[in-house]
Amino acid sequence: MFRRILIANRGEIALRILRACRELGIETVCVYSTADRNAPYLRLADRAICIGPGPAEESYLNISRIISAAEVADVDAIHPGYGFLSERADFAAICRDCKIEFIGPSPEAMAKLGDKVACKQTAKANKVPIFPGSEGAVDDEEEAVKIADDIGYPVIIKASAGGGGRGMRVCRNEASLRSNIRAAQQEALAAFGNGAVFIEKFLEHARHVEVQCLGDKHGHAVYLWERDCSMQRRHQKIIEEAPGPGIERKKMQTVCEAAARLIKAAEYSGAATVEFLMDEKQNFYMLEVNTRVQVEHPVTELITGIDIVKMSILVAAGLPIPFKQKDVEIRGHAMECRINAEDPDRNFMPSAGRIDTWETPGGPGVRLDTHVIPGYVVPPNYDSMIGKLIVHADDREQCIERMARALREFRVGPIKTTIPLHSRLMEHSDFRRGGIDIHFLERLLK
Ligand code: ADP
Repeated sequence: MFRRILIANRGEIALRILRACRELGIETVCVYSTADRNAPYLRLADRAICIGPGPAEESYLNISRIISAAEVADVDAIHPGYGFLSERADFAAICRDCKIEFIGPSPEAMAKLGDKVACKQTAKANKVPIFPGSEGAVDDEEEAVKIADDIGYPVIIKASAGGGGRGMRVCRNEASLRSNIRAAQQEALAAFGNGAVFIEKFLEHARHVEVQCLGDKHGHAVYLWERDCSMQRRHQKIIEEAPGPGIERKKMQTVCEAAARLIKAAEYSGAATVEFLMDEKQNFYMLEVNTRVQVEHPVTELITGIDIVKMSILVAAGLPIPFKQKDVEIRGHAMECRINAEDPDRNFMPSAGRIDTWETPGGPGVRLDTHVIPGYVVPPNYDSMIGKLIVHADDREQCIERMARALREFRVGPIKTTIPLHSRLMEHSDFRRGGIDIHFLERLLK
């Protein structure tokens, strides 16, 4: 087992990893930017090292500074969390060259699944359901038009190296496709350093359903069932839940098995999520694979009782997954609300600043993953998530009641948060009956 781990992240996920390490008897080294110098969780680390100023490029994304800190602190491994360097195959390769274990997949497995076009090809070879669309990257306009004619409009143009819901363009006819393809390539090149784009069928009514998987270095892969993440704003998830309401279990199992097959075929070790869209007839189409621990992992932890962050550490240390697929059981229903420092009444404008009031919910079935304490100052440099409220109950109805109750207990000020929006959603009749899809919030907020 590792003796000491460096946590190359910040905020709630840095604290989440720190907690897992503590329970495993592993020492922790946190790195931080000057914008985070007063972050309370730093006091819980065995050592904290400043790696630069607030802008992420000069700190949390600065590979040489993080590697220097790892060498100075003499760590055995680095946990990247999510975001920042977590999906950078070059970073995983540098760790390997420096003889530091990267807690996540090998750079090869990451490249195979992290690039959307490459991933689609591996998925197809392993009978994972994918979208009708281009086989690989589309180079020219005529080719794009031909593919769109074959699959029918609307289509969506996406960047192979894309992420964060950026750079996608929906085209409803040939003229729109022709006028968008070149711009999409240029935008992808500018945003992701890779101009490759591809085309797939655009689904008007869909749910986002993803499968949590785990792989180890002994060739095992298991699935921990699905999460429904249809509640999104601008392609960013805001509520996640499991199991997916109303999804036929046999159907879901087939898709989960396909996801695990893909992870195994890529010789993947660590936590991975295979994302799908599901249409109204419960047909599944793979979107992409996220090659890291995800924000919404606690939802799965609560319904399976499996600690995904600990598992990511154990398998990185070379241990086999300590349970079998048949041992994974779903118990009850779990839901997560992302608490963002944003003002829902002012078009979700970021609301950074000092948090004076911070009264948190508790009681049966309530979990709060956050790095915030009263007096904490939200820095303006990073994403706006300040915590995740996750609840667990016997079924979806009780889970929603419990979430509504917990949200009512949660008082934050003077900064604005997404708590009032979540409270409103818990009362919404369509949401309550499970009538959700990826455009639900867009319609509600119109
Ligand atoms: P990113 O990596 O940027 O997050 P994804 O491929 O995961 O991009 O897609 C993000 C979201 O965009 C999905 O959850 C869905 O809401 C929407 N989306 C992506 N592809 C399609 C599609 N083919 N049809 C309809 N919506 C889509």
